[in-house]
Amino acid sequence: MRYAFIGLGHLGGHLAASLAKAGFALSVHDLDRALAQRHEALGAAWAESPRAAAAAADAVITCLPSPRASSAVLDRVLDGLAPGGTWIEMSTLGRDDIKALAARAEARGIATLECPVTGGVHRAAEGEITVLVGGDAALLERHRSALDAMGGAVFHMGPVGSAAVIKVITNMLAFIHLLAAGEALMLAKRGGLDLAQSFHAIRASSGNSFVHETESQLVLNGSYDIGFTMDLAVKDLGFAMDFGREFGVPLDVAGLAYQTFLKGRAAYGGGAWSTQIVKLLEDALGTDLRAPGFPPKLG
Ligand code: NAD
Repeated sequence: MRYAFIGLGHLGGHLAASLAKAGFALSVHDLDRALAQRHEALGAAWAESPRAAAAAADAVITCLPSPRASSAVLDRVLDGLAPGGTWIEMSTLGRDDIKALAARAEARGIATLECPVTGGVHRAAEGEITVLVGGDAALLERHRSALDAMGGAVFHMGPVGSAAVIKVITNMLAFIHLLAAGEALMLAKRGGLDLAQSFHAIRASSGNSFVHETESQLVLNGSYDIGFTMDLAVKDLGFAMDFGREFGVPLDVAGLAYQTFLKGRAAYGGGAWSTQIVKLLEDALGTDLRAPGFPPKLG
């Protein structure tokens, strides 16, 4: 099975590197040629365009920043991929986006496996990121070894579109947890507690969360460098709000998180790390949340 990987950014770069390290025949492409250097060093071939990448592959994996980018790249991929091939979409898309794009692929004889991931770039770097799958079960089995190489746990959620729903739900929870962790740390700081000791106490408490264990460390360091941007956070919370409207579910807490991330993006820019949302509170109070002994990146 020959794979092509398009979109070698913060997340996709690690996923493609895991495939190359596992020895899969791989061609890679990104708008930024320099991002492919590490993959070429691992034995992957550079492709000049999405179409050229697809022409050299049986399955094309994409990991792109927006539905618009996925749509544009898919069109070029469909020009290159032979009927009977597979499109594996690892970007985070809205459910209606992925269903519409999968229908476009199917009309050209290409089957779609939607595989958004969750856990953060550090988990992707370790090849341990969680993979959420929507699509045909037999198609999943055909590509399971590649997914196992890139990720850890793999959850088959149902048909195409179902993984988009659970992916947005998990990110919605993560953003809410991040805002809560920021408020908790600020209470500890303003309450005169040692911040490092407070971090450890929370981690061992019933108030702990995956986000506290990981992103709170980046807040305490001051790097905020989670490898995930404000733009992506606003995109995902927008999808969550869409689902709330469609499914008739009031999203009071997520709605507040959405507004807060809009403020954060306006304050720090769409390219700022999403973890920097906690800085809104630090700036408002003129109180920082730095503590010694925490890493600038999760390793
Ligand atoms: P990113 O912006 O770092 O990377 C996107 C890459 O796509 C860039 O290198 C860009 O040059 C490339 N690209 C854009 N348009 C292209 C085109 N037309 N042709 C070829 N390459 C193109 O984004 P990321 O953080 O890697 O995220 C990618 C996707 O994964 C997003 O949908 C995001 O929501 C999702 N995601 C990210 C994370 C994370 O922690 N970063 C976690 C889970 C899911």
